[in-house]
Amino acid sequence: MNAVIAALVELQGIDDEIREYQVQRDELAGNLDRLRSILDSMGKGLDDKRERLAEAVRFHSDKRIELQADAERMNNAKTKLVAVTKTKEYAAMQREMDTLRKKFSDDEAELERLAQAIAEYQANIASEEQKLAELRAEVTREEESSAERLSNLTATIDQIASKKKNVTAALTAQDRTLLPRYGRILQQREGKAVVPVVAGHCSGCRMMLPPQQYIIIQRGEQLMSCPSCQRFLFYTAEVAAAEAAGR
Ligand SMILES: [Zn+2]
Repeated sequence: MNAVIAALVELQGIDDEIREYQVQRDELAGNLDRLRSILDSMGKGLDDKRERLAEAVRFHSDKRIELQADAERMNNAKTKLVAVTKTKEYAAMQREMDTLRKKFSDDEAELERLAQAIAEYQANIASEEQKLAELRAEVTREEESSAERLSNLTATIDQIASKKKNVTAALTAQDRTLLPRYGRILQQREGKAVVPVVAGHCSGCRMMLPPQQYIIIQRGEQLMSCPSCQRFLFYTAEVAAAEAAGR
């Protein structure tokens, strides 16, 4: 295998190793983000509920003022009723009194139901506040424990990445365009820019390679790219042995 191909294979190996830790780091950071967004939406839901509660409390207090006014009206009517002497007028006022009394007792019952609903809503909010506080504490604990793991992972990634220095320098010395090409393919092809040829196929995209190209790759003297996915291709004795064993 020529030096350029060997360097590319080595570089891919280092990037594979880095990727493993990056996946762990992304997972950890993703978990934290998810927890934070749950916390956020719970907080918003709770704010909405508190607003609705405040509205209900205002409505209840307005209704109570109305009810007090009705009670006064009833008292006035009662006083007037005592003063009335004519039978016809008395009957009319008696009916008005009955209507007032009926309305008052209906409103009073409604107000009572409203007060009950408000109490239930308050209890519900209190229990959600409790849950939110517990979750917030959990997220804080998670953030604290993750911070250390995150920084360890970052340190590990940096340490592995430092192994790239020699190999990238060697590649650039051979051909300045190689490294940028490698980087582009790595990004476009799910982190795989250098793949072995297995049984005459590009193991990156499964394309069957033209026989002439396959022979050149097997010799390992010249750098070849897959015509379909552009990944760099290589052939190793291990792959050859595995192929032979598989047959
Ligand atoms: Zn391919």
